[in-house]
Amino acid sequence: MQQRVAVVSGGGTGIGKAIARELAAAGNRVVILGRRIDVLERARAEIDRAVGTPRVVPIAADLTVPSQVNDAAHAIADIGPVDALVNNAGAVITQPADGSLDALANAWRRDLDTNLLTAVLLTTALLDHLRRPGGRLVVISSAAAQRGGAGPHSAGSYAAAKAALHGWAFGLARQLGPDGITVNVLAPGYVSDTEIFGADWTPEFHASKIADTLVGRAGTPEDVATAVSYLTSPAAGYLTGQVIGLNGGAVLGR
Ligand code: NDP
Repeated sequence: MQQRVAVVSGGGTGIGKAIARELAAAGNRVVILGRRIDVLERARAEIDRAVGTPRVVPIAADLTVPSQVNDAAHAIADIGPVDALVNNAGAVITQPADGSLDALANAWRRDLDTNLLTAVLLTTALLDHLRRPGGRLVVISSAAAQRGGAGPHSAGSYAAAKAALHGWAFGLARQLGPDGITVNVLAPGYVSDTEIFGADWTPEFHASKIADTLVGRAGTPEDVATAVSYLTSPAAGYLTGQVIGLNGGAVLGR
């Protein structure tokens, strides 16, 4: 059987690395994308060692830059049709300290670029290369899109950028459904053991996020990877156009 091809943006760290590992373990050839080639190379070595065979292809690209996305998409198209595209790259942009509108505008633009435009550009560049029928597109959003907030000092733009992904994904689901491609949004709650909160992470913040859940623990990158594994599987062909919460009960019923 032909090897399936998966693409994971932000696949060098945190949640994306766990998704890449899960999809590689399931037999996929997995392209991981990020800006730092050294980080991607380390992830490749770690995953290939864990899986026991070379399955990971690292490609360095800043996915906010159209020319870099185009170059990455051409390299991916040479590998073969894309069975699963996981738009996972993102970041929490911190609130500007000086309170000026210039700084605020800059933070919002960076947030929209990083959390929304990365997914829009990569998906658009790969649209003609998605497997038809059978392609699977997953967008990693956040519980912040459903209830506001994010890190301790995030600008409101993070929640807004993630929420914008939802409307965009619904349109894509309508557009691609007739081609046999599914599009879903996965909205995780707090997930520890990633780089996203950086120096803003504190034990108090961690404890407050756990207290928000019904199950009394933080999510893990593996929790997200398991859900993505199902959403990108051939078995998930009737599930499309949905926002799926994965948050330990921190957000109910949406
Ligand atoms: P990480 O910071 O560990 O991962 C983010 C990844 O995105 C990095 O590998 C980074 O690589 C990549 N990335 C960021 N900007 C760009 C860019 N311009 N071009 C290419 N790659 C980029 O954090 P997480 O694993 O926590 O986050 C993964 C996703 O999950 C994000 O979308 C995040 O918003 C979402 N999420 C996380 C939650 C959490 O609690 N951890 C909760 C809900 C959602 P590099 O810096 O090398 O470019």
